[in-house]
Amino acid sequence: MRSTAKRVLVTGGAGFVGSHLCERLLAQGHEVLCVDNFFTGARANVAHLLGDPRFELMRHDVTFPLYVEVDEIYNLACPASPVHYQFDPVQTTKTSVVGAINMLGLAKRVKAKILQASTSEVYGDPDVHPQPESYWGRVNPIGFRSCYDEGKRCAETLFFDYRRQHDLGVKVVRIFNTYGPRMHPNDGRVVSNLIVQALKGEPITLYGEGTQTRSFCYVDDLVDGLIRMMETPHAVTGPVNLGNPGEFTIAELAALVRELTGSASPIEHRPLPPDDPRQRRPDIALAGELLGWAPAIPLREGLARTIAYFERALQAA
Ligand code: NAD
Ligand code: UDP
Repeated sequence: MRSTAKRVLVTGGAGFVGSHLCERLLAQGHEVLCVDNFFTGARANVAHLLGDPRFELMRHDVTFPLYVEVDEIYNLACPASPVHYQFDPVQTTKTSVVGAINMLGLAKRVKAKILQASTSEVYGDPDVHPQPESYWGRVNPIGFRSCYDEGKRCAETLFFDYRRQHDLGVKVVRIFNTYGPRMHPNDGRVVSNLIVQALKGEPITLYGEGTQTRSFCYVDDLVDGLIRMMETPHAVTGPVNLGNPGEFTIAELAALVRELTGSASPIEHRPLPPDDPRQRRPDIALAGELLGWAPAIPLREGLARTIAYFERALQAA
């Protein structure tokens, strides 16, 4: 093991992003403690890591205190897809808020650095475009998405209060729509939905007119940004946007998925869910300045890799 090896806790480590992060941290020579309650994640996502003696998987819900000894904490525990976070909205808020309090308390006790996986949802349905970190957002506090949006906003508040009160080494990143292998095939997020529908020859569901935009970041790029952020000096806290500034309408995404899968699936329009943001694109100037980071994988290439993953997953199912 390298002498710089650290003990790293990844909450939500058996989820989509968390499993890729665990993999990368192990490859860098660190010890990884993966904590997850398997609400949306699965043992299967980290099954290939279980044989590594530097990897440990623990079933635990972050809304309860955790007593472990670690040097760094990546706090990713929280369902991220609207279908899943709206399934039990009270638990979603608890996971973000109580989970943040517990993990910040742990970081304070063991003097660990702690990174929060925040979200572009803190900007809500934005009237500033693209979104810089200085924008305070336009969030409905009482709607269907609020359990997630406001939970994540409150978690950010807690991170900055722990910094001001206890000088904790906090790092906050605001993640924009990220996709790639190991997304849950039924989690309702647009990339997984459209790919699975196209591969099965089922209708491709476009909510509303499909004119709303999103910016899609491939998971490997995101993981690189998360690790760079953790490695910044104490003075750097963020929040820092991490996302791919390439902006696409959902109709454009559907057309690209159809092209890359060679699918003849028809497009089927469905009602737009309430409070669905009309546009979203990160301003990533700060990530470039502080982290020397920019995404490298264009949508077409990332989608091709993700489609290959879902083809294998559907065959195995
Ligand atoms: P995911 O649902 O695949 O992963 C979340 C993981 O957290 C799952 O393994 C789940 O079982 C676990 N979890 C949920 N509640 C928990 C609890 N109370 N205790 C312990 N574990 C719990 O989602 P993801 O896409 O991998 O997202 C990871 C993190 O990144 C989340 O915090 C999410 O809010 C944030 N994020 C993701 C995106 C994205 O596009 N993927 C965008 C913005 C922010
Ligand atoms: N969407 C869609 N069809 C689907 C799933 C989602 O048109 O089958 C739309 C959704 O309304 C939203 C966008 O795609 O405008 C992204 O949705 P997702 O749930 O992936 O993420 P979020 O809205 O949280 O960015």
